[in-house]
Order: sequence, then C-alpha cells, then structure tokens
Amino acid sequence: MKLADYTTVRLGGPARGFVRASTEEELIEAVRAADASGEPVLILGGGSNLVVADEGFDGIVIQVATRGVSHGAGPGVLTVAAGEDWDAVVARTVAEGLAGLECLSGIPGLAGATPIQNVGAYGQEVSQTITQVRGYDRKTREIFDIPNEQCGFGYRSSRFRGADRFVVLSVTFGLAVQVRSAPVRYAELAAALGVSPGDQVESIQARSAVIELRQRKGMVIDPSDPDTRSVGSFFVNPVLDAAALRAVETAARVRCGAGTTVPRFDAGDGLVKVPAAWLIEQAGFAKGYSPGDGARISSKHTLALVSSGSATTAGLLALAREIRDGVIDAFGVSLTPEPVLIGVTL
Ligand SMILES: Cc1cc2nc3c(=O)[nH]c(=O)nc-3n(C[C@H](O)[C@H](O)[C@H](O)COP(=O)(O)OP(=O)(O)OC[C@H]3O[C@@H](n4cnc5c(N)ncnc54)[C@H](O)[C@@H]3O)c2cc1C
Repeated sequence: MKLADYTTVRLGGPARGFVRASTEEELIEAVRAADASGEPVLILGGGSNLVVADEGFDGIVIQVATRGVSHGAGPGVLTVAAGEDWDAVVARTVAEGLAGLECLSGIPGLAGATPIQNVGAYGQEVSQTITQVRGYDRKTREIFDIPNEQCGFGYRSSRFRGADRFVVLSVTFGLAVQVRSAPVRYAELAAALGVSPGDQVESIQARSAVIELRQRKGMVIDPSDPDTRSVGSFFVNPVLDAAALRAVETAARVRCGAGTTVPRFDAGDGLVKVPAAWLIEQAGFAKGYSPGDGARISSKHTLALVSSGSATTAGLLALAREIRDGVIDAFGVSLTPEPVLIGVTL
C-alpha cells in the first residue's frame, strides 16, 4: 500500500501500518494502541492537504472513516462526524435551507479536518460557524469538547494544526436557518453572481457559482483533469505589516513598472494579505511552468502545484523551493506552505 493512493496529489511512499477506523470507538482505540506502543501516528482524512515523503511514513496511518450527521438542540445546529465527506455536508446544509457553509463548496477532504487549518474560501471560514469541536486528547487520553473561542482559529490555523495531540471526532456548526446565503463578501464571487459585495443570494446559487469558479481554477477534484492532482493552494497568502508592504511595493515598481499596484486584502489590525499567486507570477513563474520532472504549476492556477505520472514528492518540493526562493529574490517575502508536510521539509 502506498500513501500516494490516499492523497489528492497522488504522491507518498508506504506506511508501516494502516488502520481504517469506522467508528469513534475504533478511532480512539487505534490511536490509544499506537500511542501505548510508541508508534508514530498519522491521522488521515481525505489526504487533500498532505504532502508525504517518497520514503513514506514510518508509523501507523489511521484513516478516519466515521460517519453521522445529527441535528442539535437548536435550529441550525448540526453535529458532523469527522469522517463525513466535507462537500456532501455543505450540499446537505444548502438543501436543508441552512446558510453559512455555502461558499465552502467544492473543497475536498473530510469534515474532521476543517477545523485543523480553519478551512476557508470565497469569504467564508469554518471558524465563522463552528460552535464546538469534540476530540480525543492524546496527551491526557481524554475526550474533550471545546467551544469556538478556545480553538485558536486564525488564517489557515488553529490550536489543532501541527499539534499532533488532538484527534477531531466531530464538529458542531451553528448555521442560519434561511434559504438565502450569508452576505457574499468576496468580490470575485459577487461579480460572478452579478451582485454587490454584502448582498445575499440563494445559497444554492452561491454554491453553484463557487463550484464553477473553483472548477475553472482546477480547484475541484476531477480525476479526468490532471490540473486537480494537487493539494489545492501550495502556499498561504502572506500577511504583511505596513513596512513589509512598502518593501513589496518598492520591489514591485522596480520589477514590474512604476505604475504597478500590489493587490491586497484587509487582514485587520493594520495588516494586509497579498495574494501569493500574484507574487509568484510577478516573480516569473507562469501557469503551467515545469522544471521537467513531472511536477509543475497547474495550467489553471499559479498556486497549485500538480504531479503527473513521473513526479515524486522530492520533485514537487524542489519546485516549491524554486518558487519560494524566486519570490524571496523578487520581493523579499518568504512564502509558507499550506499543506501538512510528512517526513519532508521545504
Ligand atoms: C483541489 C483542492 C482544493 C482545495 N481548496 C481549499 C480551499 O479552498 N480552502 C482550504 O482551506 N483548503 C483547501 N484545500 C485543502 C484541503 O482540502 C483542506 O485543508 C481539507 O480540510 C483537508 O481535509 P482532509 O480530510 O483531506 O485532510 P488530510 O489531508 O487527510 O489531513 C490534513 C491534516 O489534518 C490532519 N487531520 C485530518 N483529519 C483529522 C482529524 N479527524 N483529527 C485530527 N487531525 C486530522 C491530518 O493529520 C493532517 O495533518 C484544497 C485541497 C485541494 C486538493
């Protein structure tokens, strides 16, 4: 068995052990048993945010396959088992007239992984609607229930990410009971819907528009589309303070012409988020760029690094390094990888 068969980028060597856990009890027991024997553990969801070494993982991979969605006490409260397919959950909420997740349509992976990096797209993040995360703490060996405020959510981050300590068992969402979407915040989505930012549309319309936009960028997994053999965005958008932004603006004027405007989004507290894709393109890496060993930049989106037949994890990372170093040279900004790297570093 190769982990390449379990990752969306189709890379990764073998694991020493592999357990599929279909119930919460099996999941906790598998983790407890591995911890008791001192085995390294990799919790595997849909493998859509994982880059695994060609050498594989020298430990036990525990695949989360728990199922179940239940309505909670109040209207709009939904508790979802970690192993539920994320997009099916979003589709269900839209069909049931619950708003708050519709812009997170088309994202691969499982529900249990969504709090890990505070999954977000098109103006929504799961941190806006998660009310509680239930999990197993490998350190205390206890089950915990923690409210949103204690999840440490930030941009593509949470207290769960990189901690290896927590196994998410289920996630509870508090959604608005309405067929209309949450206000559309993302300009590109608003334009696609023909509305102004802040307007609401029917959730089903928002979902369709998001999926269409994502498909155009190769951001919906499609086995027949080689541009979707990726982990989605390979780099997060850098968040810059005023001084760092000024430095980027100066470099951009020198490199791209005096009239160049650096695109940015407000990130609060005087900070801005600059699109990593723009920095990569201006640093000279075009869509489709390939160093010639099977790894390449998607022909649909500069932020997605894709693998083809002969690619290896080593090759994918070499490409990522080349891009990272190119952006440092051009703009002095060091891009941070978004996926979780297993057995490799950038
Ligand atoms: C085409 C494409 C588009 C994407 N678009 C987006 C996007 O728009 N926005 C976005 O935020 N992300 C996006 N992603 C990234 C990815 O889909 C999300 O991060 C997703 O939530 C990962 O889910 P997964 O089940 O595949 O997790 P995996 O890749 O299996 O795991 C990711 C990490 O979470 C851990 N983990 C998984 N499940 C659990 C659990 N139950 N308990 C504890 N730890 C766990 C794993 O150990 C690993 O560290 C995209 C990926 C692809 C391939």
